[in-house]
Amino acid sequence: MSETNVRYEKKTVYAKAGKEIVDAAYEYAKGYVRYLDASKTEREATDEAVKMAEAAGYRPYEFGMPLQAGDKLYYNNRGKNIYLFKIGTEHINNGIRITGAHIDSPRLDLKQVPVYEEADMCYLKTHYYGGIRKYQWLAMPLALHGVVAKQNGEIVKITVGENENDPVMYITDLLPHLAANENTKTVATAFQGEKLNILVGSRPVEGDEKEAVKLGVLRYLNETYGITEEDFLSAELSIVPAGRARDVGFDRSMICGYGHDDRVCAYPSITAMIDADESVHTTMCILVDKEETGSDGVTGMQCNLIMDLISEISKALGGNEATVRYNSKCLSSDVAATFDPAFADVYEKRNAALINCGVAMCKFTGSRGKGGTSDASAELVAWVRRVLNEAGVVWQTCELGKIDVGGGGTIAKYMANHNIDTIDLGVGVLSMHAPYEVISKVDLYEAYRAFRAFYNF
Ligand code: MN
Ligand code: MN
Repeated sequence: MSETNVRYEKKTVYAKAGKEIVDAAYEYAKGYVRYLDASKTEREATDEAVKMAEAAGYRPYEFGMPLQAGDKLYYNNRGKNIYLFKIGTEHINNGIRITGAHIDSPRLDLKQVPVYEEADMCYLKTHYYGGIRKYQWLAMPLALHGVVAKQNGEIVKITVGENENDPVMYITDLLPHLAANENTKTVATAFQGEKLNILVGSRPVEGDEKEAVKLGVLRYLNETYGITEEDFLSAELSIVPAGRARDVGFDRSMICGYGHDDRVCAYPSITAMIDADESVHTTMCILVDKEETGSDGVTGMQCNLIMDLISEISKALGGNEATVRYNSKCLSSDVAATFDPAFADVYEKRNAALINCGVAMCKFTGSRGKGGTSDASAELVAWVRRVLNEAGVVWQTCELGKIDVGGGGTIAKYMANHNIDTIDLGVGVLSMHAPYEVISKVDLYEAYRAFRAFYNF
């Protein structure tokens, strides 16, 4: 008789899962890098999800549509938030298996009146979106992504800085030679939001025009995109890091890229949803906007749309909405903070996510005395343990960091507030919220395997 293993020890995917899984993980990561490069904003991430869904036979859903087992549908909410769902053979009253990831990431949005000229240079003013460390965005190539909604209804898509021949956006920084005073300030006071201005021109138009550099920029924008300065008022233009995701490490075991938080969970959610064809349950994959600013608004997780969808689905399948919600389960798939030895003092290592130790489960988020968390029940954790362990998924438990050092939240509590049992399960990230973040390929793949096991169990 074998002895019961009475210890809990984290082990890496490399130690536990074997070469076949590791090879599959490295292969799977290639598809993720393609998705990441194509999805630098929530709009682009939604467009990519639509392409993936349609290629897998999903079609657009409209409220009131009749539904039956086997139907594969998606609801594209304003191009910034998408719900994929598949109707199972099991009765809808048994609940829906839901994963929810967010597809917005920290960045710099252009202000509504962004263009100005100073010292013969033209700039665009920005307003940062989400939690950033402001100094990280200085003195590096940046790209402009987004849309301008014109008064006549036309939507102009703009992407500048991604092709090799494109110009890039840039924010200047202070030279060290003149930084004696600046160096004595704290990070919080030295770097200010109003200084995150994008350099976009220095060539004046000919003639005796005032603000001749700005005029040159405005004329260029008008000739190239058919827009005027007033059109910026109805635009959503974002500054993101320019360039592509790249492998990190001589062993190519990691990926550095913009927006892993939370596309590193969005991609395994969609692919698991599409691949979990054997599931008898009704399944749903939510990719949501506005998580980084608190999940408010019509494309955020706090919007009533999720309730409308569950209500319509329940009704169309002869279910009772309250019963459906009570019996549903949700994995809030958001990133965890991977233990970083360079900043060891902010983590509590026994309860931190460790690199390569698989997909990370966070029973609660929040800050201080568990403020602002839904704190998943022990019963739900036990159920998820069983799902993951029976599928041989390598996974670990984690909390964000040491008590009282900071904190954070996800969409979990907004789902839980709808009477849907919800827990966080996601991929660990190094340098979270930096312009370029780092993740482990094997952790990414375990997230895919976990979500697939969850849909199928
Ligand atoms: Mn996140
Ligand atoms: Mn985040």
